[in-house]
Amino acid sequence: MKKQYDDNNVFAKILRKEIPCKKVYENEYALSFEDINPQAPVHVLVIPKGKYLSLADFSENASDIEIVGLIKAVGETSKKLGLNADGYRILSNAGTDANQEVPHLHFHIFGGRNLGSML
Ligand code: AMP
Repeated sequence: MKKQYDDNNVFAKILRKEIPCKKVYENEYALSFEDINPQAPVHVLVIPKGKYLSLADFSENASDIEIVGLIKAVGETSKKLGLNADGYRILSNAGTDANQEVPHLHFHIFGGRNLGSML
């Protein structure tokens, strides 16, 4: 059975403006904001505005325009952060093996220094 989306997760609250965020970029379908506990000099999260648990849920259930909107937001956010010259890393944790903390799909964008090997 499909896991239910939890309307009380922290990113749902950010989207409803119940708690603040340091916004980096927004379009009709996605929002990006600074991670509250940065793991690199630049650490920003990009989330869809729709209620999706993970990339599996999103790729199966989101509309084409939502998918385009999210990917566009990742690209625009990286550009706005000035990361395109030196590079960056994108990561998305999904489920228990990845220790996903917040059950709303998000892409982490890390940058601002050499990030070393992948894991
Ligand atoms: P994950 O482990 O991939 O689910 O990552 C969740 C991320 O959300 C972590 O990097 C947290 O630091 C970040 N986070 C949690 N609460 C907030 C918040 N209120 N604003 C910004 N980032 C947050």
